[in-house]
Amino acid sequence: MSAKRETILSGIRPTGRLHYGNYFGAVRHFLRLQEEDKATCYYFIADYHALTTVTDRQDLYGNTVEMLRTYVACGLDPRKSVIYRQSDLPCTAELSLLLGMITNIGLLERGTTYKDKLSKLREDPKAEGNPLSYGLLGYPVLMAADILIVKADIVPVGEDQRQHLEMAIDLATRFNSRFGETFHVPRPISRDALRLPGLDGASKMGKSDHNTLDLLDDPATVLKKIKAVPTTTEPAPLDTDSNDADTVVPKMPSGVGVLYRLLDLLAPREVFLEFLEEYRRGGKFYGNLKKAAAEHCSKFNEPIIARYNDPANSAAAVEEFLRENARRVTPVALETVEAVRAAMGIGHSLYRA
Ligand code: ATP
Ligand code: MG
Repeated sequence: MSAKRETILSGIRPTGRLHYGNYFGAVRHFLRLQEEDKATCYYFIADYHALTTVTDRQDLYGNTVEMLRTYVACGLDPRKSVIYRQSDLPCTAELSLLLGMITNIGLLERGTTYKDKLSKLREDPKAEGNPLSYGLLGYPVLMAADILIVKADIVPVGEDQRQHLEMAIDLATRFNSRFGETFHVPRPISRDALRLPGLDGASKMGKSDHNTLDLLDDPATVLKKIKAVPTTTEPAPLDTDSNDADTVVPKMPSGVGVLYRLLDLLAPREVFLEFLEEYRRGGKFYGNLKKAAAEHCSKFNEPIIARYNDPANSAAAVEEFLRENARRVTPVALETVEAVRAAMGIGHSLYRA
C-alpha cells in the first residue's frame, strides 16, 4: 500500500511586485516541488498577515490578484498546486483566537518580527508604518493557525521564519498533550540559503529597500537599473583559484557581486567563466559585464511578462481558481476547527451545521 501523499505548505505575503530575490530565494523552490510532484503543494496568499504592515488604505485584493498573476506567469500552476487566499478560510481566524487562549505572552514577546519592530520604534518613535499592533504580536499564533488548519506535513522556511515555525510546532504539541491528540504536527525543512544582494550594493535585495530588479521589468528598465549598479574600477583580488560563484561572489565589491550572481543564475556557465577571467585580468570590463547581465535578465523576464499578459491569465481567471481552491481546502479546515472546538469544550458550531 502506498503511503499517504504528504502536503507541503508555504505562505506568501501580497506586498507588491515580485523581484529576483523572491524568485531565486523562494519561487524557484516552489516550482521544483511542484514539478517533483512527490507531495501536494499548498500555497496561500497571506492577506490577513499583510494587514500588519499595510500603512495606507491599499487595494489588498487587487495586489493579491496581481501577485497571483505573476506567480502563474512564473510557472506556478493552480491545477497542480493548491493556491488559495488566507482570508478565504475565515475559520483560520477562529483557530487563531482559540490558540491565542493558550499562548503565553512572554513567548510572543520573544518573536523576532515583533522584537525587530519594537527596536525600530525605540530608535525612532515616528518610524514609518503601523504602530505596534496586537496583530503583529500575535503573528506567530496566526501563522500556527495557517499551518495547523490544513494539517500540513512539511513547512519549508528560510532562516527568517524558522523561529515562528518552531513556535507553531510547540503550540500544537502542547495543545495535544493538554487536550488530547488533535493537531497534526508538521516538520520543518530548511530552504537553501541563497540571499541575493540588492542593486544598490546592500547585502539583501528587498522591496522595502527599493533596490530590486523585478520579474516584470521591461528591457529598458532592466538596463537602466543595472547600469546604475555601483561598481568600483579597481576590483579587489579574489585570493582564490576557485570558479565557484558561492566562493567568489562574496569576495567581490557588493555591486559587482550582484552582477556576477545574476550571470551565475541566468547565463551559460562559459559566459560566467569568461567574465571571471576578465575580473582576474583587471581592466575595463564593467560596461560589458552590465550589458551581458542586463541581456540575460531581460531574456529571463520576457516569457514571464508574456505569460503575465496572456488573456488566459486574467484577473477573472485568478478569481476562478481562488474560488475553486477555497472550496478544496475548506472541508479540511472546518474539520480541524471542529476538532479543536470539541477538544476545548466548545462543541459543534450550529452556524455551520
Ligand atoms: P519586505 O522588504 O517587505 O520584507 P522582501 O522583498 O524581503 O519584502 P518578502 O515578502 O519578505 O520579500 O519575502 C518573500 C520570500 O522571498 C521569502 O521567502 C524570502 O525569504 C525571499 N526573499 C526575499 N528577498 C530575498 C533575497 N534578497 N534573496 C533571497 N531570498 C529572498
Ligand atoms: Mg522580507
